[in-house]
Amino acid sequence: MDLKDLYREVVLDHNRSPRNFGRLEPADAEAQGHNPLCGDRLHLTLRLQDERLSDLRFEGQGCAISVASASLMSEAVKGRSRAEIAQLYDEVHAMLTGRLSHPPAHLGKLAALAGVAEFPVRVKCASLCWHTLNAALERANAPVSTE
Ligand code: ZN
Repeated sequence: MDLKDLYREVVLDHNRSPRNFGRLEPADAEAQGHNPLCGDRLHLTLRLQDERLSDLRFEGQGCAISVASASLMSEAVKGRSRAEIAQLYDEVHAMLTGRLSHPPAHLGKLAALAGVAEFPVRVKCASLCWHTLNAALERANAPVSTE
């Protein structure tokens, strides 16, 4: 099995049985993501503890790449700090847009999405979950309301 087959297998597996699928209630923050080019939609809920992303769930409908990417992301970011997530996002974005020809080893299974760089129209599918996560994290910055 070459690397491309392995990557394809990881994407298919995460599309078939997405990890962290569902909704956290209550959640510390949430956000909706929509990629009109493909029709992908996702809703993300998260919990923060001491500025770490202690838990997250996503639900929604979309193409195989968008679902697999959200599933892979959910595993990769859980337990991480905001700064670590920001750095990871930079690297994933560089990989998806073809600016990183050899994904560093610490990206782990996220490297399965490296092939997306060959299909520019799919980049938005794969990055939708990251934009949605960033939006939810920004919202979590807002002062806590007592209402
Ligand atoms: Zn899509």
